[in-house]
Amino acid sequence: MTEKRYLFTPGPTPVPPEVLAATAEPIIHHRGPDFRVVYERTLARLKEVFRTENEVLLFAASGTGTMESAIANLCSPGDRVCVVTAGAFGERWAAIAAALGCEVDRLAYEWGESPSADDLASRLGEREARVVLTTHSETSTGVVADVRGLAASAREGGAVFVVDAVSSLGAVPLETDEWDVDVVVSGSQKALMSPPGLALVSVSQRAWDTRGTLPRFYFDWEQTRRAQEIFDAAFTPAVSLVRGLDVALELLLEQGLENAFERHVRLGRACREGIKAMGLELFSPDDDSAAVVTAIRAPEGIDAGALLLLLRDRHGVTLAPGQGPLKGKVFRIGHIGYFDVFDIATALAAVELALTELGADIERGVATTRAFEAYEQPVTV
Ligand code: PMP
Repeated sequence: MTEKRYLFTPGPTPVPPEVLAATAEPIIHHRGPDFRVVYERTLARLKEVFRTENEVLLFAASGTGTMESAIANLCSPGDRVCVVTAGAFGERWAAIAAALGCEVDRLAYEWGESPSADDLASRLGEREARVVLTTHSETSTGVVADVRGLAASAREGGAVFVVDAVSSLGAVPLETDEWDVDVVVSGSQKALMSPPGLALVSVSQRAWDTRGTLPRFYFDWEQTRRAQEIFDAAFTPAVSLVRGLDVALELLLEQGLENAFERHVRLGRACREGIKAMGLELFSPDDDSAAVVTAIRAPEGIDAGALLLLLRDRHGVTLAPGQGPLKGKVFRIGHIGYFDVFDIATALAAVELALTELGADIERGVATTRAFEAYEQPVTV
């Protein structure tokens, strides 16, 4: 019998069977009524999930593709961009902007800190920027930033506000229009419960009106927007992935976004309480904001990388490693998308077992009980 595998990483995430089945349907041609109906419905559903009246543009790419598209469409050579960075994905913004020839002004925090809207307001007061680039859920640390506050500071400072919502969209509240967020980028493989390969971006009128002159072709927003207006993709779309996303969005919207947000808060609580009950220390914040991914410090004397290998090889459980300076020191449990409390229990039980095998001094037999108790507590989102 093949070993059963468990995927508990913060992306890619497990995909519901209905979605997988849709991606296995026979290929259809993208220029014709067969695909058009799926395309139109998926684009409409995306607007609901993004909570926007703006167009959501759909590309065949990973999330980084639409991150790059944001800079390529908004900026001109040499433009100053302010990058709010507190982890690996803030650093990615800075790297893309530098690669495309922008002047990068970093508002940098220690990994694990939460960016402050006041700091952004003062920075923009000192040095103007054309665009502000931020990360909603910093997947490398588990911190979920105050996008509403950051958006208000960017607005006050006269900058176009861009947020990377790759790991947050569909997991925690993001009110694109109500919070006046100009550009939201995301990907298919996290809370949208789909396979990797689709990148999304919503663009406000203000952002359209202030586009820059950096070179772009495949990721030119205008080209894709025009094509989407008539539901006739600019380039061959990833038809199977779009079919899957269509079904996944239907599931998410049927469940209701508010219910999904509440479930993620409860999953975060369950994970944290279980981890603490074992005697381990959290790296991510110990509060309800950390609803996407829980980052945990490896116990003294245990390499997080060795723990992950043992979990994978002996128990079939995949968790995520620490990134950058956290490599070896931290491991991460994702609880995004198609995920329930039994997944948390499995992840906790596996960590408990593997750490015991590695000789760590941890409290056994309590984590899952605490996790189930925490999951039952009422939540207001
Ligand atoms: N931003 C965040 C917050 C992410 O979590 C990720 C993926 N882990 C990315 C950007 C990059 O997305 P992709 O790997 O799909 O390019």
